[in-house]
Amino acid sequence: MIHDLVIVGGGPAGLAAAIYAGRAKLEGFILEKMSPGGQVLITDLVENYPGFPEGITGFELVEKLSAHAQKFGFGVENGEVQKIEVEGENFNLILTDDRTITSKTVIVATGATHRRLGVEGEEKLTGRGVSYCATCDGPFFRDQVVAVVGGGDSAVQEAIFLTKFAKKVFLIHRRDELRAIKILQERAFSNEKIEFIWDSIVEAIEGKDQVESIRIFNKKSGEVTDLPVDGVFIFIGIEPVTGFVRDLVKTDERGFIKTDEWMRTSVKGIYAAGDCRRKPLLQIVTAVAEGATAAYAVEHDLS
Ligand code: NAP
Repeated sequence: MIHDLVIVGGGPAGLAAAIYAGRAKLEGFILEKMSPGGQVLITDLVENYPGFPEGITGFELVEKLSAHAQKFGFGVENGEVQKIEVEGENFNLILTDDRTITSKTVIVATGATHRRLGVEGEEKLTGRGVSYCATCDGPFFRDQVVAVVGGGDSAVQEAIFLTKFAKKVFLIHRRDELRAIKILQERAFSNEKIEFIWDSIVEAIEGKDQVESIRIFNKKSGEVTDLPVDGVFIFIGIEPVTGFVRDLVKTDERGFIKTDEWMRTSVKGIYAAGDCRRKPLLQIVTAVAEGATAAYAVEHDLS
């Protein structure tokens, strides 16, 4: 069977695209490798999604988006795309379990994943004190000391979240100024449990079976110190999940997919929306808008 549309990825962009595709009576489904939600699922509280002045938990927002997509009949199937091959005017999506799905159009909404520091001890101690998800692992560090690495929205937001559990949170940033939005900065600066370590680079994460300390290099003083901590949370930015289409569609040097304002990529019939797309503002509100636009473009282009 040749489908009208397959949406790869069930985060906010994919789910919003599904709502619009369902209402347009397009045939197809979302292909998701885990359960729908994406990065939002591991966000404790979403404070800046319009219409929720009190904030909404990531989990609840995903539940609402999924229910909304289901209401219009655009379902979710399980599967991970390994690569996409062009066959005439259609696309063959080759899945990791060797299944092939053929569709006239594809919306790539695979989002992004966390970047790794790439230092000694990081890989070995992942899941043993090294984490990339405060919502998932924060409760394990009740009354303990943790370090957060990074200076963007994620690092600062998650450092604040971690103070609910940890007795002390060191925020280690490579410069002397945060990148995070001002409201988060103000909250972090006034939080007594957070101590900032500026101009510093984490050189190694140390510990036998569990994180015991981190080795920090201060760029200004040249000093190297060992800081005892029980956990390290790394939030140093994201990488797009676009490896499976990088040979097919045009991306920037970091792998974010380039599109026009209709979300059309360089290949006719393939669209991109959300965090996997090159754009100035990576937010849930922009992801859902792009998902809607992409589904609208599919409907327009197919007819
Ligand atoms: P980000 O904005 O790219 O910030 C990454 C931070 O990590 C920067 O402070 C950067 O330092 C630092 N960094 C990068 N590579 C590093 C390395 N190798 N070693 C040490 N530090 C390193 O990433 P993000 O905070 O994950 O956010 C990703 C996107 O999601 C952003 O667009 C953000 O606005 C959005 N987001 C929004 C919210 C919200 O609205 N509440 C929450 C989370 C995320 P420099 O500053 O020196 O470059």
